[in-house]
Amino acid sequence: MAKLEKLVIASNNQGKLREINTLLAPLSIEVIPQSDFNAGEIDEPHGTFVENALAKARHACRCSGLPALADDSGICVSALNGSPGVNSARYAGEPKSDERNNLKLIAALKNNSDRRAYYYCVIVLIRHADDPQPIIVDGSWYGEIIDQPRGEGGFGYDPHFFVSEFGKTSAELSAEQKNIISHRGQALTHLVEILRAGKF
Ligand code: IMP
Repeated sequence: MAKLEKLVIASNNQGKLREINTLLAPLSIEVIPQSDFNAGEIDEPHGTFVENALAKARHACRCSGLPALADDSGICVSALNGSPGVNSARYAGEPKSDERNNLKLIAALKNNSDRRAYYYCVIVLIRHADDPQPIIVDGSWYGEIIDQPRGEGGFGYDPHFFVSEFGKTSAELSAEQKNIISHRGQALTHLVEILRAGKF
């Protein structure tokens, strides 16, 4: 099995890049953002997170010639039958806007007492664009949507995602706390275990 020395991350989202870099740091892998290869964003037309993650990873592989890691993630709200789900980034349309997404979400839940929601993240790692055996890991993080935003950390829906065991929104957690318990943190922890075991 080859040792993984360098990989490209198939994202231009600064919030995600920060979290992924921190969580992969112990592996001493050189992690390069896809923007270094002028790889722009691609469409995410699929109905499942894993298909979108694979599409992003393949694109980054083709642009860079390196193994690629891609994350596809979103927030699934019970009272909205799992929406925004795979459409979380563009819930309020183009151009992507966290502020408009959050306003739309709060409006959609107006007068609804069921506030249950979870973040979901799938991460894929592929050796090359036609890799028939992607490494796939995932994680889910449960909370509730609150109307009033709280906190300055994180990104996306974090100011409205309340985590009862901390009594805080995910935007009020420190980056270290969020990385330990979040959907992305859980998925990356699995990935680190797999890579430490040399399964690449
Ligand atoms: P994508 O994976 O690039 O399609 O976008 C995922 C979208 O889901 C982000 O743009 C955010 O709106 C939302 N999201 C995913 N993970 C998080 C998170 O950790 N905090 C806040 N929002 C998130």
